Amino acid sequence: MARDRQTAGLCSRCNRGTVNCLYNYFVKDARTIYSWEHRCDDCGHRETEAFRSDDPELNSETDPTVCPYCKRQAAAQ
Ligand SMILES: [Zn+2]
Ligand SMILES: [Zn+2]
Repeated sequence: MARDRQTAGLCSRCNRGTVNCLYNYFVKDARTIYSWEHRCDDCGHRETEAFRSDDPELNSETDPTVCPYCKRQAAAQ
């Protein structure tokens, strides 16, 4: 399992805390699961998104190694 965390600026919910962008991926059976989390270190506001490599909705227009919230590219591969 890989972990990759970066700060992603000021929280839009509380305008005070810093949002941490956390990327994880892990391989389970034959599929890879990519998970993204944005979480504020002040108010705790949290957003998550996960992509599975065998999801039929995951097409070539969706890059699971790009954060759906801040659009950064994952550093850990
Ligand atoms: Zn906040
Ligand atoms: Zn992000």
